[in-house]
Amino acid sequence: MLKRYLLAPGPTPVPPEVLLAMARPMIHHRAPEFDPIFAEVREGLKWLFQTRNDVLMLASSGTGGMEGAVSNFLSPGDKALFVNGGKFGERWGKLCKTFGVQATEIKVEWGHAVNPQLVADALKKDPAIKAVYVQASETSTGVSHDVRALGEIVKGYDNTILVVDAITALGVFDIKTDAWGLDVVITGSQKALMLPPGMAFVSVSDKAWALADKAKNAAFYFNFKKERENQIKNQTAFTPTVSLIIGLQEVFKIMKAEGLEKMFARQGRLAHAMREGVKAAGLSLFPKESPSDALTAVSAPEGIDGQAVYKNLRTQYGMTAAGGQDHLKGKIFRLSHMGYADTFDVIAALAATEMVLKGLGHPVKLGSGVGKAQEILMAK
Ligand SMILES: *Cc1c(COP(=O)(O)O)cnc(C)c1O
Repeated sequence: MLKRYLLAPGPTPVPPEVLLAMARPMIHHRAPEFDPIFAEVREGLKWLFQTRNDVLMLASSGTGGMEGAVSNFLSPGDKALFVNGGKFGERWGKLCKTFGVQATEIKVEWGHAVNPQLVADALKKDPAIKAVYVQASETSTGVSHDVRALGEIVKGYDNTILVVDAITALGVFDIKTDAWGLDVVITGSQKALMLPPGMAFVSVSDKAWALADKAKNAAFYFNFKKERENQIKNQTAFTPTVSLIIGLQEVFKIMKAEGLEKMFARQGRLAHAMREGVKAAGLSLFPKESPSDALTAVSAPEGIDGQAVYKNLRTQYGMTAAGGQDHLKGKIFRLSHMGYADTFDVIAALAATEMVLKGLGHPVKLGSGVGKAQEILMAK
């Protein structure tokens, strides 16, 4: 037997209370008992997103929310700007292309964060740009971009919206949707929201709705206006993910008992302990700046294949982490600590990493990273 540990940056572990809630007998989404559940979850989402606007719930993975954030706000021929600092940034470019949007790319070297001044310069040069697309946490590199600074910049343009993929940010660190002027914020169920995959969530500001009124792209399923008309009445345009919504009700009970500030503090503490543990084990972090608190991307040591680390973690110790993508394949491995994670997730991840590396012939001192994390995570 091999006990399984899920330390991938999505899907992430689901708390037992949430699993049990989702195991309840199916109810009908047009029946009266669904109404209060949906209403409670809508309120919970506003709390988590720190917004007064409605947060739409969609039955799709996170990318469905990203797709809708292009198709609902822009028309073919419209101009957009996107930050490409990794696999998910690149996805904005592909989505814009799919919908005939003329997108200008700000290419950021993988492992770095975007310099907000580049966005300011691009908007100054071309104020016809209607939307700026960015990640709050670029999961492929483990780097976070400063969306607060970008909000300040985009605020100055009445006809430009800022769209933030916060799929591995929301619930991990502070994202003040309204206060920072983030017009559209997206997340998914299977990351920090501690749910199985299957839902996307999108908040939309008044400025973004005004843009949606003029947009001409044909969106049938991911039609935000149609969804809003229904969701303000605690209904959805199509069959919702009933079980996941019931699970989310339970997730909000857990999150509210902890509180946003303590939740961000816990996530930050885990991330800090993981990073310090990695360094104490003689390894280096892949991010060159602004590491995301959602996950830690570790550079594979010289002569060690990062994919072998990732594979051995799973086959030898039952631990599912993640490897690198594209040109980072073999160069890095990624350990997540977002969502339903605590002290011993970090310690187990560091312990297993040390054991795997030693097994691969890398001279790591067993316990070096673990000890550092223990010091940091010891209860006070
Ligand atoms: C997981 C993730 C997504 C969405 O991916 P799906 O597979 O569609 O859920 C988008 N952006 C980031 C930054 C992610 O981590």
